[in-house]
Amino acid sequence: MIDHTHAPAARSWVDGADGHRDFPVQNLPLGVFALTDGQPRIGSAIGDQVLDLTGLAEHLPGAVRDALAQPTLNALFALPAADRRALRHALFALLTSDGMRLRVLPFLHPADACTLHLPFRIGDYTDFYVGIHHATAIGRLFRPDNPLLPNYRHVPIGYHGRASSVRISDVPVVRPHGQIKAPDTDNPIYTPCRRLDYELELGLWIAGDNAPGETVPIAGAWDRIGGLCLLNDWSARDIQAWEYQPLGPFLAKNFATTVSPWVITSDALAPFRVAQPPRAADDPAPLPYLYDADDQHHGALALTLEATLSTAAMRANGVPPHRLSRGHATEAMYWTAAQIVAHHGSGGCDLHAGDLIGTGTLSGADPSAAGSLMELSHGGKAPIMLPNGETRAFLEDGDEVGLSARATRDGYRSIGFGACRGIIAGAR
Ligand code: CA
Repeated sequence: MIDHTHAPAARSWVDGADGHRDFPVQNLPLGVFALTDGQPRIGSAIGDQVLDLTGLAEHLPGAVRDALAQPTLNALFALPAADRRALRHALFALLTSDGMRLRVLPFLHPADACTLHLPFRIGDYTDFYVGIHHATAIGRLFRPDNPLLPNYRHVPIGYHGRASSVRISDVPVVRPHGQIKAPDTDNPIYTPCRRLDYELELGLWIAGDNAPGETVPIAGAWDRIGGLCLLNDWSARDIQAWEYQPLGPFLAKNFATTVSPWVITSDALAPFRVAQPPRAADDPAPLPYLYDADDQHHGALALTLEATLSTAAMRANGVPPHRLSRGHATEAMYWTAAQIVAHHGSGGCDLHAGDLIGTGTLSGADPSAAGSLMELSHGGKAPIMLPNGETRAFLEDGDEVGLSARATRDGYRSIGFGACRGIIAGAR
């Protein structure tokens, strides 16, 4: 639903908000932060400031006040979508009305004085595999003649991940130990990962609840997505290669997953919903429970995605992060966000507010849009060259990976997702 809060001409009285790369007043993301007292509280990012929503309750809709007093967004995202939309409208009014400036100013804090927390108490985390170019590229490394398995175009592939190890941006990622078996040896060894990788993904934050046994109809599935984030599914490729058969990824994926702290609400993304690219003529049509005409017309997202790498030597010498890839979510995603959620609920699995779903690695068709080092370095065989002469096949200690996403569409103010960074710490 596009409304006055998306108007590109809208201006905020907050210094620096109007020209801000990620958080102009058209964005109004939600998150959890703490000041020096350490108390987690709900806020919104505006320019380089964080607005403390807990101090402004009397200016916000009555239906959300109890939820805003909580230390996570779970209660807020359990409410009907209309309540969160009313909150967005109220925030927009506070931040665009000059008459509210003196009232609101005491509750604005410089972002660099705030500690950001995970926005939700995450009940469950699931990772999908809907990036068809990634699935094809990875499949080709193992099956050059038949890279995509026959189920791929019929069913959104996913597996259940681990919620306990989801971390917020800037929390270091400790290189995992694991069982690794080299191709030329008979037995595995237990050793620090030697082929550590990142995966550029989007995260979907679930809103609302469905009862056990109750499915999620495709027509209402977008409404079950309260917002999005960036997600880095750190992956230990050598551990994965040995352990993944027959049940899929386990320890290779569950040591850390990094998310960006600000929830870019589905309301903020309304102008950036675009048509899902048509399937190839010889692709199967989705089964009816995965097909909705409105979802096909508006269910893709006009997001540009980037990944960067900064090594310890680059930072020490003032070399800016090196862009590893740039691609587009719409091109990458074979299944829409709504299809992912509808499929997850299609067997009667209850999804709850604050559950996290990863899309899977989002790579474009072009090699410059590959969302992992596994693809960029051709399985490690072709290390990439960095601007200072270093090379990388996989991540080394001290390397920092940054992900970014930007929503753009003609006629609308562009918004961004903020930072999703992680630095590799040596194995313990
Ligand atoms: Ca993944």
